[in-house]
Amino acid sequence: MKNYIDKTLKKEIETVFAFQLNQNQYQDIKRLVFEISHRQNISTLKIINYLKINSKADKQTGRNKFFALKDSLVKLRFPLTSAHKNIDRKNIFLNKLQAPLKNNWTAQDAFRPTTLFFEKKTKGSYLINNFQKHFPNLKIKQISSLKNYIKGDKFKLSELKKPFIFIVEENHDFLKPCPCTREHLNCGYWIFNLGFGCPFDCSYCYLQQYTNSAGIILPANLDDFFYQFDKFEKKINRPIRIGTGEFCDSLALDHLTDYSAKLISYFRNKAVFFELKTKSNKIDNILSQKAASNIIISWSLNPQKIIDSEERGASGLKERLKAAKKIQKSGFKIAFHFDPIIYYKNWEKYYKNLVHQLYAEVKPPFAWISLGTLRSNRQLKPIVEQRFPKSNIFYGELFIGEDKKLRYPKFLRRIIYQKINGWIKKFDQKTPVYLCMEDKDIWKDMGNLKTRKDIETYLIKNNP
Ligand code: SF4
Repeated sequence: MKNYIDKTLKKEIETVFAFQLNQNQYQDIKRLVFEISHRQNISTLKIINYLKINSKADKQTGRNKFFALKDSLVKLRFPLTSAHKNIDRKNIFLNKLQAPLKNNWTAQDAFRPTTLFFEKKTKGSYLINNFQKHFPNLKIKQISSLKNYIKGDKFKLSELKKPFIFIVEENHDFLKPCPCTREHLNCGYWIFNLGFGCPFDCSYCYLQQYTNSAGIILPANLDDFFYQFDKFEKKINRPIRIGTGEFCDSLALDHLTDYSAKLISYFRNKAVFFELKTKSNKIDNILSQKAASNIIISWSLNPQKIIDSEERGASGLKERLKAAKKIQKSGFKIAFHFDPIIYYKNWEKYYKNLVHQLYAEVKPPFAWISLGTLRSNRQLKPIVEQRFPKSNIFYGELFIGEDKKLRYPKFLRRIIYQKINGWIKKFDQKTPVYLCMEDKDIWKDMGNLKTRKDIETYLIKNNP
């Protein structure tokens, strides 16, 4: 946060436009000026000059002066959307400015845990031994339970990525339907809840908002997960799509957890499509397994420019695609997620190139491709501002959507999906492409899929 905004802006605005800003009005103005100067790299002085010429605030009186200034700033802050439609002030999220955190921990190139905590019940588990073997200097501490540890620990956001490992016994959250988001079409996905937390540090990661402890939680009781799935399987009478990777990266720590080998041998004979979703190239354990047609290894993709600025610690694009090629060669199915797609200057050039790079490396058809534009709960934005002050992605054209999440406006999402889907279709007519967390209107552009069941059937039928 630039201090000059705090110190002088109020006085300058009040002097130039001859009125007094109340506290809420000033907060809105300060936030808009801050975001404009951040995303467009222009000074406060230039913004005030712009207001002098464009706002017509001098022709207004009382609070209308404030609205004239605010509307003018909104146009400058959201140039694309304001050229397209009138912006409803209610849909703009103007949170209080947050100073960046001091001594913020973030991901390192190679994950090196410093302390491993294990719940008493997991003593002697293979996970503890694996970590000990790989990191002989690791401090190992027994705790009565993670719940008690969290109660006694004062969590600081700056310590979110402290390299701690918690080995636990999971007793409740074994699997659940993906909650998707309200007012939007669900694809019928199920989450196999194996772990929470990630050694990578993506600026947009929603886990930042749900974490109340530093570190990564890894369950040691896989057999209980399998027992619970056996019970669940008897109740469902259709094939489903299920995977880890919602609250963790499925493979980032696989060389330490060996989860993938155990999951593949359990799920290979089940009537489900089991997906391991990653931004890593940790595929050795998978390559050591016999391929199975219902096991899908998938990669989230973004242009290298976005990986460099927003996906700290994750493998580069070339490494991800190289890993995908090896996995495809070994006989497993592969899939890709263009998610989150970020709208920025020259986005078309970069995403078109990404599609080209994908098809130059691996051969279609794939199990599926998903497309999802950047979206998040509002609470994530101040966290990102504190942890990633250089990131610009939340200063894009994001508004409060129908599900109360920050999203690009519909017209822009439509353009993005149509273009990327069009580029994909030039190479590949067979891979089913679906949208993640989108509404019925946007889905209409993608074909005749109107319900969760339609989408589920479309994805499963295209994977014989
Ligand atoms: S890879 Fe996924 S889970 Fe890990 S930090 Fe990035 S978004 Fe979060």
